[in-house]
Amino acid sequence: MHDLASPAATLESEAAEPSRLAAHDLVRHRATLGAMKRAVVCGAGGFIAHHLVRSLKADGYWVRGVDQKEPEWSPTAADEFVTADLRDAAGARAALTVEGGVDEVYQLAADMGGMGFIHAAEAELMRNSVLVNAHLIQAAAEVGVDRYFYASSVCVYRDMLPGEAELTEDDAYPALPDNEYGWEKLYTERMVQAFGRRYGFETRVARFQNCYGPEGTWDGGREKAPAAISRKVAQSTDGTIEVWGDGTAVRNFIYVADLVRGVRTLMDSEEGRPTNLGTREYVTVKELVDTVAEVAGKDITPRWVEGVVGVLARNFSNDRIEALGWSPSYTLRAGLAETYPWIAEQVAAASRG
Ligand code: NAD
Repeated sequence: MHDLASPAATLESEAAEPSRLAAHDLVRHRATLGAMKRAVVCGAGGFIAHHLVRSLKADGYWVRGVDQKEPEWSPTAADEFVTADLRDAAGARAALTVEGGVDEVYQLAADMGGMGFIHAAEAELMRNSVLVNAHLIQAAAEVGVDRYFYASSVCVYRDMLPGEAELTEDDAYPALPDNEYGWEKLYTERMVQAFGRRYGFETRVARFQNCYGPEGTWDGGREKAPAAISRKVAQSTDGTIEVWGDGTAVRNFIYVADLVRGVRTLMDSEEGRPTNLGTREYVTVKELVDTVAEVAGKDITPRWVEGVVGVLARNFSNDRIEALGWSPSYTLRAGLAETYPWIAEQVAAASRG
């Protein structure tokens, strides 16, 4: 592997020298010899990456999880968990420095939340996430990783009207994301790909739809619609809940197990282009509320109130990810049947104190 003593010098000299690729050949060689693959999962204290770590461990990987905090509801399955602020260049470099080298990096660390948070914290999230991403991709180039996965979002797309035809991945351009979170994602997609081209490593980019499931944030302001509505339904004692907007916005929700399988499918494939990861089941917010209520076995009447709703509609092609053999296993109802009981239990535990 490379001398890690002088990162900047290493990066400069490697940029000028084609022999840089030898490090990747070594990593591949080790993998083909049957050695345990080594992965670093960034954001492993958060929702999706915590589940991703379990999936990699189940397939025999050696995994290092990295985050500024440990997972909240159950211990990590990672072999090693490093607590670090990835906005810091030295923290990012240390995170990707593993004895014997790193085969795969999964970058899911981000300053993010639901629509309310994304609008209220637009300046902080642009700064924090772009620092995390710039330092991690540079560290990946310096230590010589084999493959780098980046978790992007369908927030890179423009707003859509209900009933509009599907947008494909290429329709992200000309770019007009609805919010600053989406602009940061689009910029980072391009930065990741530019580094991959420049330093000779494979990059994978998935654009996630809204993801939900057990062990996701369910209160505090960063939770997304399925978790927020599940919490409100669980807390409701009079059969009503407040919901932002008028219920007509169209959304897509993907269950975390399906999403993690999609990430793994894309990473193992030769598809280097940004790839949408969602289901073909589009619902209105009103239908989401009705489905949560049905799963909860409660009669719920929403009270529509003013709040940050975000885009009017979504409708994205899944042809690219489905061409790799992936398709979702969970309907929205089936996914909520796994998620709602977990959130109801958190609500009950919190009220017990
Ligand atoms: P999450 O908030 O649960 O996890 C993100 C993790 O990143 C957190 O644990 C957080 O502590 C960590 N992090 C943030 N800043 C950090 C820093 N400076 N140093 C170290 N760690 C830091 O979010 P999630 O829902 O698991 O999302 C994972 C990824 O998927 C994110 O990149 C997100 O933007 C993307 N994504 C998620 C969704 C979704 O619906 N959940 C949709 C589209 C895209």
